[in-house]
Amino acid sequence: MDKKRLDYYKKKLQTRRDELLKAIARTEQEGREADEDPTVDLADKAANSYTKEFLFGQTHNDRSLLQLVDDALARMKDSAFGECVSCHEELQQKRLEAVPWTRYCITCQEKKEKGLL
Ligand SMILES: [Zn+2]
Repeated sequence: MDKKRLDYYKKKLQTRRDELLKAIARTEQEGREADEDPTVDLADKAANSYTKEFLFGQTHNDRSLLQLVDDALARMKDSAFGECVSCHEELQQKRLEAVPWTRYCITCQEKKEKGLL
């Protein structure tokens, strides 16, 4: 992959990374505030624990994605970015454009989803 294209994806990944870090920090903050609010009554507390579960799920997703983004940035350093980690075929530009942190080509992704990889 040429440097210009690599820089382009790098910027995309870094932007996404910043967004995720902000989202995680914000969600954690909301979770803490829900805990510390002394004005909530019991009904609110029940709603609160539901909210917290939701927030927890949210950070979990954000963190998983953050890990994928970090991995992609690490692969850039190893010049392995842009190829499938399984079959080492070059990834389609269209696929990278949509999900620059993707690790698999479409064929391997499908195999993985079917549990064949
Ligand atoms: Zn592949």
